[in-house]
Amino acid sequence: MDADIPYLLLTPGPLSTSRTVREAMGTDYSTWDVDYNERVQRVRRRLVALVVGRDVPLNDYTSVLMQGSGTFAVEATVGSVVPRDGKLLVVDNGAYGARIATIAQRLGIDHTVVKQSETEPADLHQLDAALKNDSAITHVAIVHCETTTGLLNPVEEAGAIVRRHGRTYIVDAMSSFAGVPITMLQLQADYLIASSNKCVQGTPGFGFVIARRAELEATQGFARSLALDLYDQWHEMETKGGKWRFTSPTHVVCAFDRALDELDDEGGVAARHERYANNQRLLADGMTSLGFRLLIDPAHQSPIITSFQYPDDAGFDFQTLYDKMKSRRYVIYPGKVSVAPCFRIGTIGHVFAEDITDLVQQVGEVIEEMGVTLRGTVPV
Ligand SMILES: *Cc1c(COP(=O)(O)O)cnc(C)c1O
Repeated sequence: MDADIPYLLLTPGPLSTSRTVREAMGTDYSTWDVDYNERVQRVRRRLVALVVGRDVPLNDYTSVLMQGSGTFAVEATVGSVVPRDGKLLVVDNGAYGARIATIAQRLGIDHTVVKQSETEPADLHQLDAALKNDSAITHVAIVHCETTTGLLNPVEEAGAIVRRHGRTYIVDAMSSFAGVPITMLQLQADYLIASSNKCVQGTPGFGFVIARRAELEATQGFARSLALDLYDQWHEMETKGGKWRFTSPTHVVCAFDRALDELDDEGGVAARHERYANNQRLLADGMTSLGFRLLIDPAHQSPIITSFQYPDDAGFDFQTLYDKMKSRRYVIYPGKVSVAPCFRIGTIGHVFAEDITDLVQQVGEVIEEMGVTLRGTVPV
């Protein structure tokens, strides 16, 4: 861990970034200047290249950056690609799926929700049946890694079903993009959404959407918002050499460009995935051997973030664990599920095996300090 940072973020984002990524924010660029706009174009091309296999023409896909946090990019997509007479099906097995449904509701978009257990991967039979029974559905949205729990949804299998029914497919890959290898073609995705401050390991400030070009090009005028008009934003960037419509987060884009260099240096998405998966294994093994219980079956667990159930011991208090861990330079995360009291620990960002090994040891010491007894080692 760098000596100049107060603590390591073991959260779902913003994440701990490298010193060099933070230093890349040291220059003030004009949002209209060619140096900056060329950087934007380079970032857009690199994003497409990350999720388009070598044998696919790059030009079949395009990307658009949108100011704001990840939710802004989700709202921009949902609000801009579903036509007025369209209908959205949302697969909801966690808070982020539920958020997509809330967006549709707020925007007055006709939608239906396939609601499922937060601790189980999306049930594809229900998705298939819903598409079979409702021909009004034009679009399907699903979350890849449900950051609520750390569960991975079967987005490829779901994509095959959506494609077979001829509908448009939107994947919220916010917390998995660049951390789990995926391609647009494998997913059969039309729109893939992520943000600057997750597994690319940039700083917070914008989201982005990789889109099938033909699909996005057909959405002019669909948007229900001016600032979050995905087509207009894309059109401006595409036709004006990387210009944003409104003030762009220039420093964050520079940091992101640097973060993409560092992703390449690490060996690309496959190598990053390997590091995260190793982090997660060390965490899950270490915590279960201390006596913590996992929420999610390891078969469906992502390398991104892991949920641990509260110990049965009534003396356990999350805030105390949090404060004590923070004083030992680790920031962990509260839980977000309704089924069981949990807390979460992320394994993404500028975080390495030695950090996780040390973290587990510190958790063990803190638990002992708290006088809490851990018993259960049985996964649910
Ligand atoms: C982080 C995240 C988002 C976006 O959250 P913001 O707080 O708006 O950045 C959306 N979906 C998923 C699955 C996420 O992990």
